[in-house]
Amino acid sequence: MFSARIQNIPDSGIRVIFNRALEIERQGHRVYHLEVGRPDWKLPPGAADGVSQAIRDGYVNYIANRGLLELRQSIGEDLEQRTGRKANAETEIIVTLGGSEGVAMCALALLNPGDEVIIPEPAWPHYRAVTQLADAQPVSLPLSYQDGYLLDPDFVAKNVTSRTKLLILNSPNNPTGAVQSKECLEEIARLAEKHGFYILSDEVYQDFVYQNHYCSMAEIMGESDRLILLNSFSKSYAMTGWRLGYIVSSPSVSKILNRAHQYLTVCGVAFAQKGASKILSHPERETYLQQMKDTFWERFNIWKNALSQCPCVSVKPPAGAFYLFPLINYRGMSGREFCQYMLDEHHIAMVPGEIFGEDFGQHVRISYGRDTDIQTQASQKFVEILNG
Ligand code: PMP
Repeated sequence: MFSARIQNIPDSGIRVIFNRALEIERQGHRVYHLEVGRPDWKLPPGAADGVSQAIRDGYVNYIANRGLLELRQSIGEDLEQRTGRKANAETEIIVTLGGSEGVAMCALALLNPGDEVIIPEPAWPHYRAVTQLADAQPVSLPLSYQDGYLLDPDFVAKNVTSRTKLLILNSPNNPTGAVQSKECLEEIARLAEKHGFYILSDEVYQDFVYQNHYCSMAEIMGESDRLILLNSFSKSYAMTGWRLGYIVSSPSVSKILNRAHQYLTVCGVAFAQKGASKILSHPERETYLQQMKDTFWERFNIWKNALSQCPCVSVKPPAGAFYLFPLINYRGMSGREFCQYMLDEHHIAMVPGEIFGEDFGQHVRISYGRDTDIQTQASQKFVEILNG
């Protein structure tokens, strides 16, 4: 008999679609991959040379649990420059195997059975899964399409109980692209301090904000021990395969997170960390990020134009990230049926909205991370099918 804990959580819905798409590809068909949150873009300046040099220089062994000190230092400097939050590289920063490991570490290190975790939805499905793996209780807060998926702090307050341990924020959001306002984040921070719960602020899409100013929770909560910041090189630097993420928190929280990290993975990948250690301070980094953002905005506009030609699709223009989360009303199909139809019949892979929250069964998620030509072709095909 297998563990009930793991049997009670579903297979990752995104990966189920991805695997089916690969199977169709193996049968010799061309598939448009709009399902996985993979940004197609060049590596940041210095990364490719850095990692090959690191292997030649022998960075192939175990490193400190928290990761290479020079990388932690550069993460700390970057955070301070962006947000004013100073972070001690020895005691407050841990380099993780992607943001994914960071989320799992948080759940394992903070949660006890019966603890409640508030998750505004739609949300990345990992939050719910790791909460359940830790025997804690996810409390979903469904946000509405009409409100542009903006969070109402009063709604959060109404759902806080004596068992609330953690609130998971993700702005810009996967899958809606919503970016929460500074005022909203300030209110949420006040609630956390007042009721004594932690905030896990997942900011992996911080460099993809197209409208408004992006505000990190670090600017608001600074060194508060209630704040756990999660970030990653995966999206901003198109390095999903390097498995490089990080968590910044107060020394006491960081110590307990590091214990979870020690037993999960011991440490990250030495040469990947060495190769990434010059990225954040590279003089061409800002230009790199800006070019990437401009290209992603172009990809978004390709879809915006396409979807505006489809009467059965409604969408809120996202302020950030690289996803669209439209409502689809096509031949009476649910989001899941629509995705299956589009993949099996037309080889366009998208993810059903229900995996991001049960209230979103009529939505689908379109990731426009892949190459611009792919977006042009896929969106044209999409319009032809829906209007055909
Ligand atoms: N947070 C969010 C909201 C994400 O969408 C993802 C990846 N899809 C991650 C964290 C983790 O990414 P990684 O493990 O590659 O850093």
